[in-house]
Amino acid sequence: MEQFDYTARPARIVFGRGTLGRTPDEVLRLGRSRVLLLATPEPAEAGDRVAQVLGDLLAGRFDGAAMHTPVEVTEQALEELRRCGADCVVAVGGGSTTGLAKALAVRTGVDQVVLPTTYAGSEVTPVLGETENGIKTTRSDPAILPETVVYDVELSATLPRALAVTSAVNALAHAVEALYSPQANPVVDSMALDAVEHLATGLRALADGVDDLEVRADLLRGAWLAGTCLGAVGMGLHHKLCHTLGGSFDLPHAPTHTVVLPHAMAYNAAAAPRAMDRIAQRLGVVDAPGAVYDLIVAAGGPTSLRELGMPADALERAAELATATPYPNPAPLTRDGIRELLARALTGERPGTAPGPGGAVRALTGQVVRSFDGVAGPRLSGLLQDLVRRLHAFAADNDMTQEEWQAGIDFLTRAGHITTDTRQEFVLLSDTLGLSSVVDVLTNSRTPDTTSSAVLGPFYVEGPPELPQGTDISAGLPGTPLYVDVTVTDTAGRPVADAAVDVWQSNEDGYYDVQLPDLDGPVLRGRLRTDPEGRLRFRSILPSEYPIPTDGPVGELLTATGRHPYRAPHLHFLIDAPGHRQLITQLFVQGGKYLDSDAVFGVKQDLIVDFEPRTGPTPDGADVGDEWRQLTFTFRLQPTG
Ligand code: NAD
Repeated sequence: MEQFDYTARPARIVFGRGTLGRTPDEVLRLGRSRVLLLATPEPAEAGDRVAQVLGDLLAGRFDGAAMHTPVEVTEQALEELRRCGADCVVAVGGGSTTGLAKALAVRTGVDQVVLPTTYAGSEVTPVLGETENGIKTTRSDPAILPETVVYDVELSATLPRALAVTSAVNALAHAVEALYSPQANPVVDSMALDAVEHLATGLRALADGVDDLEVRADLLRGAWLAGTCLGAVGMGLHHKLCHTLGGSFDLPHAPTHTVVLPHAMAYNAAAAPRAMDRIAQRLGVVDAPGAVYDLIVAAGGPTSLRELGMPADALERAAELATATPYPNPAPLTRDGIRELLARALTGERPGTAPGPGGAVRALTGQVVRSFDGVAGPRLSGLLQDLVRRLHAFAADNDMTQEEWQAGIDFLTRAGHITTDTRQEFVLLSDTLGLSSVVDVLTNSRTPDTTSSAVLGPFYVEGPPELPQGTDISAGLPGTPLYVDVTVTDTAGRPVADAAVDVWQSNEDGYYDVQLPDLDGPVLRGRLRTDPEGRLRFRSILPSEYPIPTDGPVGELLTATGRHPYRAPHLHFLIDAPGHRQLITQLFVQGGKYLDSDAVFGVKQDLIVDFEPRTGPTPDGADVGDEWRQLTFTFRLQPTG
């Protein structure tokens, strides 16, 4: 059983677009009325905008915040604070401006409202680093934590792209190290993983040349979560190294984090496998350190300490400093190990791969990605470029051999050969890898009020026969009789008349008509139309569980990996109605087999329906034998426009 301690930090967060305008309310909410505004010349106009909204609350202004919070600067700001009699500081800027607010708060107890303009994350930590006579000391105190943070995406949007990339990787480092911290706990873990996802999404967009408020919102949200992790648990090797390099060799803060992170991750990878797996999973990759490096390259961030001004002959000294005092870290800290890490970071080698192929693969990936630059339409070029990046990374991360590549090509070739108009091996492959369900979830999750959708499956046939209501679509095939009475409505419950409803299903042995060449089909499939009340009634037989076709390469894959090929019993529906979004779904028989291990991952809880056992004549007066089932269900479609 996992044991942990967790302390929540009492900060109020206001997040959104245009939230700068809420600053005066936030000051009043703290019961304060005289503000000292802290700002810097960059971002331009941010200080003026905050001054303007503060109006009468503004008592003084100090524009001189500097990197690493020098004590001399803090003394000047303190003088201004006393002169204007402020009871609150409002800081707008990056980590440096936040640092100054914290330095004032810990000395005087003034409340802080911070408006961050970078992704440093300092605004949600109770930590302050200050420099005096060139020496940086760090302390932690609850009084240092700002009371309120106002995240305004528009403010961070002026951060130039290059700074945005390094600042975002700085934030990513907080999330990564939180996951293998000795103080790690479930609350911080979920924030860290969410941060990884938001930051990676934002960085990928920047790499693809997309930079808008949505992208900046992802980055800022990731920065907040990552900063919260930094404030909650202790950090390891990466932060220690960056602190050493920044302090002793005067390297810039965020770019140093950017260069070092993939190497620190690679150093800790074997000792922190769970953390790396979870990061890799969120990134959708196999090798987390390599993927972080690739992301930095793609986004145009720095990769070598040399380009940041680190002298080559300083490696030994840096390794000595970084290992001088022991501190917690998953992998043991050895001087040789750290020197090696720094040597890789100095030249900008990709971590985890041999020097030769790593560089060559990167160059190739860049070349192929650029070959799609001119493709008409950003969506198409974006999809192709991302596909290339991930395919190349997949091959590189797994050190793919020529034989494995050939086996993959053979597999796809055989999938192509077996595919016909009525047998779709590629859909089957997509289904059994869960890709069809992923696309389905992405589509359906945007319309939560409608009936859940489900995968189309490989047995749909275009243009099924038009059948009148009341038809028995089983055409007398053996099986437990089924009476279907379904209604189609919109999301407000209004009936949808004349909707075209395609239904298709398996027979009692689990086969579709297209799998039975001797059958005089089509059977167990058809297109029916709803009446003016949106109702549709027809007869059929109870579908049964069935194996997806196993005589092709997909079947071989399942057998070779010990997976069963069965689908839980279900009835397919594809509903088309003018003015409504098409719905493709399946209704699963409650109590049926394989509901919890469906071979194509297609079962959703709200689509499992009671096919109620009945006796006597069916509602349309037919005598169908001793026992039959009734399916009653209402489909809800989303109106378009
Ligand atoms: P920063 O605040 O020094 O800003 C970097 C540069 O970007 C500056 O020139 C700044 O004027 C400019 N800038 C900031 N926002 C901008 C915007 N929106 N548009 C245009 N220009 C903009 O650097 P930072 O990376 O935000 O913070 C680094 C500092 O924060 C370091 O001193 C570091 O030690 C500290 N820090 C402290 C903690 C903590 O918990 N105590 C955490 C992270 C960082």
